[in-house]
Amino acid sequence: MREGSDGPREGPRYATTRFRRSAEAFGMAASPTLLMRVVASAYSVAEKAARIVRNVMATGDLGIVEKSGANDLQTKADRLVQMSICASLARKFPKATIIGEEELPPHDVAEELIEDGHCEEILKKTCPPQYTGIKEEELVIWIDPLDGTKEYTEGLLDHVTVLIGIAYGGKAIAGVINQPYYNYEAGADAVLGRTIWGVLGIGAFGFELTEAPAGKHIIVTTRSHSSTLVNDCISALNPDSVIRVGGAGNKIIQLIEGKASAYVFASPGCKKWDTCAPEAILHAVGGKITDIHGNSFHYNKEVKHMNSAGVLATLRNYDYYASRIPNTVKESLVP
Ligand code: AMP
Ligand code: MG
Ligand code: MG
Repeated sequence: MREGSDGPREGPRYATTRFRRSAEAFGMAASPTLLMRVVASAYSVAEKAARIVRNVMATGDLGIVEKSGANDLQTKADRLVQMSICASLARKFPKATIIGEEELPPHDVAEELIEDGHCEEILKKTCPPQYTGIKEEELVIWIDPLDGTKEYTEGLLDHVTVLIGIAYGGKAIAGVINQPYYNYEAGADAVLGRTIWGVLGIGAFGFELTEAPAGKHIIVTTRSHSSTLVNDCISALNPDSVIRVGGAGNKIIQLIEGKASAYVFASPGCKKWDTCAPEAILHAVGGKITDIHGNSFHYNKEVKHMNSAGVLATLRNYDYYASRIPNTVKESLVP
């Protein structure tokens, strides 16, 4: 938190809280807070993003560009979705800091890419008291327009997610994960795609929280960014099985739906836009994500983008996995 910023915030925060209490006492609905409005908008913006992801794939022209190499790709969907999300949120919340993964040349954004809707259900939820006084300029929004691009280009469509993470005071406090191709193999009658969202102190929604099988150590990790260190670290944990899938968002979904007991990635490569939304959702349901040393991630706007010391995340039993990461692995990964 910025030095000296506490004082001036006290007045408005007190006034807002007092109004909310008196409004509730008279049976009136208090007007939604900034945080809930941002999450409600991010929900609709992520749903539009999912439609863009599906439309680009349907055209068959992905417009693939290599960034740092063959395992670090950008497609037309990554570009259009980033424009759509950033421009839509910036129009409604112009003072928030928005950081997207893709480096794009200066551009005008076509009006057809703008989403101005919001999710009414989210606006009906009560904002946790510690967040009612947040000002727009204090929010940092981390965008991964398409997480799992490599898998998208290879047709592993359910690995793909759209990530919108919302940070305040350097902490991931809310997030939206859209999975555009959820159910894509479930037949024509199944509803395609879903949106998961969460806020610290409220919980997470849009999925069924499920525990991983008791007593089993199922590790989920990268499929396209493996290394000797990544594999050595997993072997040291003596897993019952290893699931190799793309995307940080997808791997957090594996944890909260009980498919895996730990997400282990002993390598640099994952960035703040990969972890912010997943972290908020995982923490909202009682899980934990850190680097491989156990350090928390910070999401203030000045922070280094790269999570240089890897990722360790669990829904339960974090300490079991953290205590078994070999020192040789830790020594190879500098935060
Ligand atoms: P993965 O688990 O390999 O799908 O990686 C999760 C996220 O981190 C994705 O957005 C990847 O693009 C990113 N990532 C991980 N490792 C690397 C790497 N070596 N180079 C570029 N991006 C990476
Ligand atoms: Mg990503
Ligand atoms: Mg991406």
